[in-house]
Amino acid sequence: MLNFKIQDYDFPPYRPPNEATSVLIRASRGCPWNKCLFCTMYKSIKFKPKSLDEIKEDIDKATKIYRDTKSVFIADSDSLVIKDIDEIIRYIKLRFPDANRITSYARAKTLMKLGSERLKKIKKAGLTRVHVGLESGDKETLKLMNKGATPEEMIAGGRVAKDVGLELSFYILIGAGGKDRLKEHAVESAKVCNEVNPDFIRLRTLVVQHGSLLERAMNSGQYKVLSPIEKLKEVKMLIENLEVNQCEFASDHFTNNIWADNTVIYRGVYGILPQEKNDMLNILDYTLDFLSKTKGEVLDSTILYEKGLINSL
Ligand code: SF4
Repeated sequence: MLNFKIQDYDFPPYRPPNEATSVLIRASRGCPWNKCLFCTMYKSIKFKPKSLDEIKEDIDKATKIYRDTKSVFIADSDSLVIKDIDEIIRYIKLRFPDANRITSYARAKTLMKLGSERLKKIKKAGLTRVHVGLESGDKETLKLMNKGATPEEMIAGGRVAKDVGLELSFYILIGAGGKDRLKEHAVESAKVCNEVNPDFIRLRTLVVQHGSLLERAMNSGQYKVLSPIEKLKEVKMLIENLEVNQCEFASDHFTNNIWADNTVIYRGVYGILPQEKNDMLNILDYTLDFLSKTKGEVLDSTILYEKGLINSL
């Protein structure tokens, strides 16, 4: 019988979809950057590392629920900046001896600043993978979104992670360039991926959330939302320009879906690059062709959000 209340175990509010079955350990609260225009995740929280004692206590509590886990995710958004991160990871390994995957979000700029020697130590402690929000490889789009990193810094951060042997997952934000930078966003994002050769490229489709700084930019005309068809064309252009090797491409977020006639007609594209590039492009061509002929209402996550049919992203 468990002698603590589940609410005593501090879950992070956000994690990547592919960490759905991982044990979630919150090592810090919030984001040390917290300035991206599209992001509302941690706006009400001031970044703060948790104390080592508190984290260890959470790890101990989690072992009572998820004793045999194979995978642990460390949150919130940039926990590798914490000075005790090696010790936290070592303690996770000690208490979850079967966990062969220990992962964390990390900003590319943080990886770049930590550098090879520090990252080697963090890897040696047991970290296996970093999830990095590239969002875009286009300089102007990164600037507009206030991502706080240039394409060169994204490349440097991605490369150092790969060089020390960490698995790297890059997240690209479809629609981030808006109508004005659609082509540049697709082509330059592919270029950054080609330079780094991440192990995974994962897509999220941008939804302008109420109360976000991006909503203000949109209302002032600085940012123009893409239509569902434009979003698909952008994904197609991105894939066409990718020249990566043994890279898993995934559209593993519901924001990538497209609906027509009340049915989900597109759930994204998945595949290993370069082997399955043509298969993914064929699915996109088929979907674009279908959408050009349908007389029904075409919806994407942005439209559903605006209609109030989804509220949690
Ligand atoms: S997108 Fe990531 S880096 Fe940007 S504010 Fe949100 S959590 Fe921080």
